[in-house]
Amino acid sequence: MTRQLNTGPNIQKEKEMVGKMIKLYCRRKHHHTDELCKECQNLKTYAHMRLSLCRFGEEKSACSNCNVHCYKPKYRQKMKTIMRYSGPWMLLYHPVYSVKHLLNKPKKQIKSVE
Ligand SMILES: [Zn+2]
Repeated sequence: MTRQLNTGPNIQKEKEMVGKMIKLYCRRKHHHTDELCKECQNLKTYAHMRLSLCRFGEEKSACSNCNVHCYKPKYRQKMKTIMRYSGPWMLLYHPVYSVKHLLNKPKKQIKSVE
C-alpha cells in the first residue's frame, strides 16, 4: 500500500463531526453517558477509517452525496440511522457547518453591510 492517509483539515473536521453525532446518538439511545457503547465505538472507528482512506481527500463532499459507496452495508445502515437522528441536533449546535454539510446546498449569499 502506497496510498497516504488523509490528514487535512476538512477530513479532521468531518471526523470530529461524525464522532459528535455518534456520541449524541449513543447517549440518547443507548444511555451511555461517558463512553460509547461497543457497537458505537466500532462504528466510529470504522467511519474514521473510511475518512482517512476517502479517495477524494480534502475535496470530498458530503458522504450522503457521494457516488462511491465505500461503507459496508451493515455500517452504512447504522450510520444513516444516526445521521437522521443526530442531524437535527447538529443543526442546533453547529448551524453553519451542519447545514452546509448535511444538505450540501449552496449557501444563500448574504449581502455584506460593511
Ligand atoms: Zn451506542
